[in-house]
Amino acid sequence: MSDQLFTKLIDETKALFHEKYGESPSVLVAAPGRVNLIGEHTDYNGGYVFPMAIERYTVIAAKPTSADVATIYSHNTGETAPFAISGEIKPADKVRWTSYVQGTIACALEKGAKVGGFNAVINSSVPLGGGLSSSASLEVAVATLMEALSGVKFGKTEKPLLCQKAEHVFAKMACGIMDQFISALGEKDRAMLLDCRSQEPKMIPLEDPEVSVLITNSNVKHQLTGSEYPERRASCEEAAHRLGVSLLRDVSFDTLMANRAKLLDDQHGDRLFKRARHAIGEDVRTLAMADALVKGEWRVVGEQMYASHDSLRDDYEVSCREIDILVEIARKIGFDGGVIGSRITGGGFGGCTVSLVRTDKVDEISERYIREYKAQTGIDATIFSTRAAQGARVLQE
Ligand code: ADP
Ligand code: MG
Repeated sequence: MSDQLFTKLIDETKALFHEKYGESPSVLVAAPGRVNLIGEHTDYNGGYVFPMAIERYTVIAAKPTSADVATIYSHNTGETAPFAISGEIKPADKVRWTSYVQGTIACALEKGAKVGGFNAVINSSVPLGGGLSSSASLEVAVATLMEALSGVKFGKTEKPLLCQKAEHVFAKMACGIMDQFISALGEKDRAMLLDCRSQEPKMIPLEDPEVSVLITNSNVKHQLTGSEYPERRASCEEAAHRLGVSLLRDVSFDTLMANRAKLLDDQHGDRLFKRARHAIGEDVRTLAMADALVKGEWRVVGEQMYASHDSLRDDYEVSCREIDILVEIARKIGFDGGVIGSRITGGGFGGCTVSLVRTDKVDEISERYIREYKAQTGIDATIFSTRAAQGARVLQE
């Protein structure tokens, strides 16, 4: 099923290239989106994240030309733009889709991937702005295209890091390393336990055919004031400072509890303590989930997911009513009904939940999520199931 969707996406991209440029592409690359199974808001605390690549991809078809610029069409935005491939390339003032592409080209050139002019078509099955990292899949696809066109092969972590830099500098988004690492280095039937401080990924098998990953979009995105994320980061930094470390990653749960009083004051109440309890507890849960996955202890896996959700809802306060409703539906169906575990995934305040479910129950559970969510919120959720997919690759060169 998923292979068919991928083949269809590739064929469609080739056809679009032909329509647009009147010939066949010579190079084809793909890079996947991702979902984070657990380990939320841990990256900037130097902790662990646990993403996997999903069967949704950004595909790029390309062919060299004799021009001195690249011409790239995005089927998703319906726009074509010229891109500089030499000289000094500066970020534009206004961030647009072209910023991600130009940024990655600039950062790849900086790393020695010299290319001539080319025509390209971008076509993605990762929903844009849906919390599944269409941005990183676009960057990693562009970096992979630059490798294929230039013949330069980036180092294993060099590629995701140059993509992250493109997102920082050109898209002006201070993201962590997770999205680019998993899109570049994901493996089929493996999730990635990533230590955000050492930047070392460890692949963990997620290969039981009886278990599938269900991604449910609440189709809600709450308006933020802009202070939500900075407050949480600042709270974590302040808590770390009071506990005598530079990153909360270095505080054990026991140390946190023994030093609780240091985090309580009139100004913050127990907010610093709660933020720290999430960040520190989430690392413990992430490692516990990876361990339980290896052992096939599915009930333990599920417990970590629900505990993560509760912590994000109560201590980190980044969930919302709609997402909580989805997770409660999952809990009600329960382990015996085929749901192993479920939680909010992504930054919060809307977006998606991720659930591990029994493969033979995918349709039944999806139908029930949609029906009960609609009854309680009036909103249509969108759902798809996926298995852990392979990271970026050259399909043709
Ligand atoms: P997410 O990464 O969760 O999907 P972001 O806001 O980080 O959401 O990135 C979405 C942005 O990335 C889009 O608004 C667009 O500018 C850019 N983008 C992603 N995929 C494509 C694509 N296929 N074509 C053009 N732009 C894209
Ligand atoms: Mg993004």
